[in-house]
Amino acid sequence: MSNDCIFCKIINGDFGTEFVYENEHCVVFKDINPKAPVHLLVVPRVHVESLNELEDKNLMGELLMAVKETTKKIGLKSYRVHINTGKEAGQEVFHLHIHILGK
Ligand code: AMP
Ligand code: ZN
Repeated sequence: MSNDCIFCKIINGDFGTEFVYENEHCVVFKDINPKAPVHLLVVPRVHVESLNELEDKNLMGELLMAVKETTKKIGLKSYRVHINTGKEAGQEVFHLHIHILGK
């Protein structure tokens, strides 16, 4: 946990954010500023700043499985996933996350 990280605070329950899906590896919640009718964020419980700092290769598999489980749970069959990495690519929150975008 990083004390000044908004996603760590959300994971910690500081804001009472509703989780669409969660397991021991990650939580999934709605993006506060949705860019599609369905816009969810899959966020690992461990604080990793971005893909550039990722060391645990199993974690990405768990996150992608969580994408599958979440979309199955909400009945979303067609969707895009993306990961912004670095400021110039549009990363605003420096806690690794996968965007799920669908209609
Ligand atoms: P990125 O630009 O890839 O770092 O994505 C960060 C995303 O987090 C943006 O789409 C924001 O709208 C979203 N976001 C920022 N703060 C919150 C929050 N408190 N709850 C939900 N989503 C958030
Ligand atoms: Zn964090």
